[in-house]
Amino acid sequence: MRNALFVFLLPAAGVVGALVTLVQGRLTHVHVALFLAGFVLTGLGITVGYHRLLTHRSFETHGVVKAVLLILGSMAVQGPVAGWVANHVKHHAYSDRDGDPHSPREGLLHAHWGWLLRFSDVPVERYAATVRRDRVAAWVSDTFVLWVIAGYAIPFLVGGWEGLIWGGLVRQIVVQNVTFSVNSVCHRWGQRPFPTNDQSKNNWIVGLLGLGEGWHNNHHAFPTSAYHGLRWWELDLSGYLIRFLDAAGVAWNVRRPNRLEILRRAS
Ligand SMILES: [Zn+2]
Ligand SMILES: [Zn+2]
Repeated sequence: MRNALFVFLLPAAGVVGALVTLVQGRLTHVHVALFLAGFVLTGLGITVGYHRLLTHRSFETHGVVKAVLLILGSMAVQGPVAGWVANHVKHHAYSDRDGDPHSPREGLLHAHWGWLLRFSDVPVERYAATVRRDRVAAWVSDTFVLWVIAGYAIPFLVGGWEGLIWGGLVRQIVVQNVTFSVNSVCHRWGQRPFPTNDQSKNNWIVGLLGLGEGWHNNHHAFPTSAYHGLRWWELDLSGYLIRFLDAAGVAWNVRRPNRLEILRRAS
């Protein structure tokens, strides 16, 4: 029920509110800026913080940087990080087989939205015990509600009710559905340069919108790689942020397959 509220009901209210502001001609540059900034920041919180840093440990970073990334990820309203990691670890363990929380084998709609109604089924103690042992991650996970409220309050304080609609609710719908597309679209349509034991695909549209996460067959072939774009033309904004953190000296042990490993795994 709680998932339905945050995935369907609040976003639906956001869409109605957004249409009203558009029809009344009240959309301003501030609202657009709040939407774009919120989209990129909370999106990177999911891709770099929740996914590449915490789930796959593809690099290490300072506790403050980790907290900021995970707080931004929490603002994307995809659940506390411990539960998110548990679901995603299980997805990699059972990709497109019995036990995968969101395989399109059970239907594209199930992979995109339907599985969320069973979100709490995956035991955190079994699949995300490392998150509970990580003091910073456990704290952000336990204070999740606070960050969701902050994610609505900040655009409200900057841009009023329309700011909340565009920088809070519409931003949330778009980021959520881009993430869900990695689960649905990227296991159905795209290229498979690597013959992995699942149906993962590289989909360039989700690659662009998903800040690099659409190179999903690359990711299933090399789950611990900090970079999902492995060729120069595979744009990977999340990977560029990790490269920047590395160059700035606040990321270390950044993992990436070498050219030989990539060639060996390619079909
Ligand atoms: Zn996958
Ligand atoms: Zn993953």
